[in-house]
Amino acid sequence: MTAVIDPQATLDTPLLADNVQLIGGEWVPAASGETIDVINPADRDLLGRVPRSNAEDVDAAVQAAERALPGWRDTNATARAGLLLRWASLVEENAQILDQLESRDVGRPHWGPSPLAGMIRFIAGQADKVQGVSLPTYSPDVLGFTLREPYGVVGAIIPWNAPGPMFTNEVAAAIAAGNTIVIKPAEDAPLAPLALARLAMDAGIPAGVINVVTGLGSEAGAAIPRHPGIRRVGFTGSPATGSLVMESCALNLIPLHLELGGKSPQVIFPDADLAVAAPAIATGITLNTGQICAAGSRVVVHRSVHQEVVERLAEALQKVTVGPWHQQVNMGPLINGRQHERVRGYIEAGRAGGADVVVGGDAPSGADYGNGFFVNPTLFDNVSPDMRIAQEEIFGPVLSVIPVDDEQEAIEVANGVDYGLVASVWTQDVGTAVRMSRALQAGQVGVNNALGAGVIGGPFGGYKSSGFGRTMGADAVLNWTQIKTVSMRGATPAAH
Ligand code: NAD
Repeated sequence: MTAVIDPQATLDTPLLADNVQLIGGEWVPAASGETIDVINPADRDLLGRVPRSNAEDVDAAVQAAERALPGWRDTNATARAGLLLRWASLVEENAQILDQLESRDVGRPHWGPSPLAGMIRFIAGQADKVQGVSLPTYSPDVLGFTLREPYGVVGAIIPWNAPGPMFTNEVAAAIAAGNTIVIKPAEDAPLAPLALARLAMDAGIPAGVINVVTGLGSEAGAAIPRHPGIRRVGFTGSPATGSLVMESCALNLIPLHLELGGKSPQVIFPDADLAVAAPAIATGITLNTGQICAAGSRVVVHRSVHQEVVERLAEALQKVTVGPWHQQVNMGPLINGRQHERVRGYIEAGRAGGADVVVGGDAPSGADYGNGFFVNPTLFDNVSPDMRIAQEEIFGPVLSVIPVDDEQEAIEVANGVDYGLVASVWTQDVGTAVRMSRALQAGQVGVNNALGAGVIGGPFGGYKSSGFGRTMGADAVLNWTQIKTVSMRGATPAAH
């Protein structure tokens, strides 16, 4: 995993213009004219400006989406799928520039082949497979069946940690089902979403089907679930904000799905292949600087291999090179100053709570790191399950090792947090894998797999406080539909 981006490359791209957002097919500034600076978190260089929108802009976007709705809803599903496939092709052609935009906005090294075109193609394939069922009836004069219909104008709010995939997930699924959408990217990383929207327009997806409103969460974000024209919401972000969005949806009497945080356990049994597990776990907690909701941040390890696991994790984490996105590094900075303070605060809380720092625990210094929001990968050992670093989502490259004595204790510790997003189990015994796959309370379970990744079309979402509803997979499209039961009686009764 190394950076492959040309350091001299500029952000000058025909895909983006400064200080505009997409409403009704037009690229417009905020009604107020106000702007937000977008910076590169590796050096705090200004990357561009985006509109600082508020409820007035959200209202304009909802109106545009309402105008586009009848035409889009009535476009046949195969034609909608065709437009999504054209969008996917343009995304594939522009994969490098999209990757650069996202890398600079989030401050991360290149991740490898872009998943975006494939994600859109999978969803396009679902568009004409949204089906109802036929129903038994009390009388031969009646036909009964269900229709799955779009909600209408829907809203989505996404975070900054993986802006391209988050945008693609929500938008492709919502419009594949025939909805039109108003989406707000995070203020820290709006560039890739705007470029993706531009490519959707170029692909021929009609004006007003996708509307992107940029701005702060408390202004543009808060206005989306409160707007009376919005019929469903998808939210990905922190539990605290998820609660606020859910409260607004409750007042507006509309449904939603929530993708929230995680505190994912990596449960290691004595028979695990530690030479595979340790580097995979180290990569899982340092990828995107630990700012991944699925990141496995707790290592729940059997005491008999505890020492060896700590040594192997330390070795793997020490190999991680930290630095600005344009260097040959594995791990970039944290997204912003607030997150930098937060992560360092958790590291101090770990120390104060009595856990042992084995690796890191500090920030790198020197000319290369300048103004960037860097922190070193940090390994805590002898963490007890009730410590803050073992309970709360840090959203940084901080790994806590918790030794346990048996399978039962491993299950209790693994499940003993509010979250339930991903859980991994490392073992070579099929029986252990089967029992643990059932016992772990998580929306995704990985066996010998740190992030629960690698499945095509798997529904993704949380148990417990990690949220509800599913994005990705066929369920993502169904999420954006509502069911109508039709009972149809002929005008002339059958002759018996
Ligand atoms: P956040 O909740 O602060 O922000 C998420 C989005 O909500 C942003 O667009 C923000 O502008 C907006 N927002 C903020 N306040 C709002 C309000 N009052 N009303 C409406 N919208 C508002 O979260 P974050 O710090 O940007 O993201 C990190 C969190 O996201 C972590 O907890 C992480 O686990 C979670 N996350 C979850 C998943 C998942 O799929 N489960 C994926 C990525 C990130």
